Amino acid sequence: MLRIAKLTAHYGAAQALFGIDLEVGAGETVALVGANGAGKSTLLKCVMGLVKPTSGRIELDGRNVIGQSPAQMARCGLALSPEGREVFGNLSVFENLRLGALPLRLTRREEERRLTEVFERFPKLLERRQQLAGTLSGGEQQMLAMGRALMASPRLLLLDEPSLGLAPLITDEIFAIIHQLARAGTTILLVEQNAARALSASDKAYLLANGRIVERGESAALLNDPNLRAAFLGAASHENPAASRLGAAGLTNIRLEKPDMHQMDFMPTFTTEEALHSHQLAGLQWTVRHAFEGSPFYRKSLEDAGIQPASITTLEDLRRLPFTTADNLREDYPFPLRSVPFEQIVRVHASSGTTGKRKVLSYTQKDIDDWTSFFARCYQMAGVTPLDRVQIAVGYGVWTAGAGFQLGCEKIGALAIPVGPGNLDMQIQFLLDFQSTVFCSTASMALLMAEEIHKRGIADRIAVKKIIYGSERSSRSMRQRISELFGGAELFDITGLTELYGPGTGIECRQHDCIHYWGDYYLLEILDPTSLEPVPEGEWGEMVVTTLCKEGAPLIRYRTRDITRIIPGRCACGSVLPRHSRIRGRTDDTIKFRGVNIYPSSIDTILSAVPGLGSEYQIHLTRDQDGRDYMCLRVERATGVNAERNAELIHEAEHQIKKQLLVSADLELVDYGTLPRSERKSQRVFDSRITDEIV
Ligand code: ZN
Repeated sequence: MLRIAKLTAHYGAAQALFGIDLEVGAGETVALVGANGAGKSTLLKCVMGLVKPTSGRIELDGRNVIGQSPAQMARCGLALSPEGREVFGNLSVFENLRLGALPLRLTRREEERRLTEVFERFPKLLERRQQLAGTLSGGEQQMLAMGRALMASPRLLLLDEPSLGLAPLITDEIFAIIHQLARAGTTILLVEQNAARALSASDKAYLLANGRIVERGESAALLNDPNLRAAFLGAASHENPAASRLGAAGLTNIRLEKPDMHQMDFMPTFTTEEALHSHQLAGLQWTVRHAFEGSPFYRKSLEDAGIQPASITTLEDLRRLPFTTADNLREDYPFPLRSVPFEQIVRVHASSGTTGKRKVLSYTQKDIDDWTSFFARCYQMAGVTPLDRVQIAVGYGVWTAGAGFQLGCEKIGALAIPVGPGNLDMQIQFLLDFQSTVFCSTASMALLMAEEIHKRGIADRIAVKKIIYGSERSSRSMRQRISELFGGAELFDITGLTELYGPGTGIECRQHDCIHYWGDYYLLEILDPTSLEPVPEGEWGEMVVTTLCKEGAPLIRYRTRDITRIIPGRCACGSVLPRHSRIRGRTDDTIKFRGVNIYPSSIDTILSAVPGLGSEYQIHLTRDQDGRDYMCLRVERATGVNAERNAELIHEAEHQIKKQLLVSADLELVDYGTLPRSERKSQRVFDSRITDEIV
């Protein structure tokens, strides 16, 4: 009756169906089984005339029906019971049913006859015939949707996801009706996610994955094939036969497969530097106008610099724009740089730091979507696929890390295990039990884990192949040690900062000699931190960023204080995306310690609030041979304070540091006047951690 040949269809640029061949004979019930997004509904819509295929044939009784309208298809004898029922909630059951026969212009008598038939099949609908459809239960609405389709007395009934969202008992009822319809000779094309149900209810079946038919055959044979059961009913296994019975009984509704990597491409579509530059110019012009029109802060800053948005005509005009700094963000607290109305903000994130110093950034939904998309790109560049299991051991909460890693992971279709930082026992247990293949953390956390794996001698029982780490500098020896102790994992340094969406604004590629940064989302300048003039290409300087499509809190020439350099030319990996070196350090004296940004001034503030301590202190950062970081504070007692109070003072100061900065430091008290003084700014930070850093 229905024959589909070499059918392809697109949604916009995305191909949804790839050369589908399918047949439904008169009187048959044929099931089309596949996961969400496999293309099932698209196929049904093509048949019904709701979506126009790109190529291929759809024949009804040998006649090509491509290009017919849905109303014409209805007159050809097709009726669709759509996914999600789509009953008219404000109309009664009776009125909804009558609509099903509307395109056929039936006589009053014929309509009455069909109504009687439908009510015989669905006695519940008769009971509720005057009730508004919106007040029916999900199962009753499903019956109504099917009844409405049956009002057309279709030769071919298309059922789209009849069990979706229904409780198992109601599903039983719906499938009993499908059985009855089939026995009464109705030809049915049944689309279902629930493979076990659909196979039990049909004569033959097609399994659809990523827009392609991957398996076809007699339903009973498919249902009993142990390989297919394992692959498509998911739960069947030798260890757990009960799970397969559960599947066969229709009590599981299993997502059949993950998205195809070939369809999940997060790399930019352009291939030349010229195309990238014209994309960047358009983004720069948009950003300046958007910030000028939406943010009082930017309007003033741009006007003070004599900039009108219309005067931005080339990428070189970037140099005329005023800078934005972390101080601007703090002054404009709590919604700095906000350039959209509050109604458009869907989220805020904040950087870590002591109270009053937090940088808070606003996000619109588009900002979140963009971030998600380029974070997925990070995973893609590291070679993470939907088959990976990603254990995320970075912080979740108001800071950006956890959210970014999570969103990107789910976007690429991998399995996310959101553990958060710390908790070594649970991390190890999950590495073993879930067989995580990717581990995401800070460099120090990765090192801690590596040592724990080594200590427990389990390197050959875990499955980690890749480690994505960020937010700290790392040395060559540290990377090597992490990789070895993890049993030979590949390491990827990921970059990012809260002001610029969060983590994921760039990542090391598989060549492992650079960071690719997302030049289609932001511009990167490398400037001399003193003169603020560009350094020659390839030389070290301060990283200054300008966003190209960020809505909530755009950045214009934001001084990150991170030091890096541009690597000229194309990477051996072939990507058009530009590159910089790993971050070498900071132009200010911020300390990065175990993943936390610490301003020495905040330590000053904490220490000066402890009575009995003097004003002079030093911060010593060291790394032991295993690569673990330590902070030691050498602090003077105040004048006249006796060394007998050392224990008490140390206890109090360590407690305050831990409480306010969320890191541990060891305190060492010395006599008043023993630390060196200088008339100029004393050196307070002594960082001897990195001796062979890779850049
Ligand atoms: Zn590369």
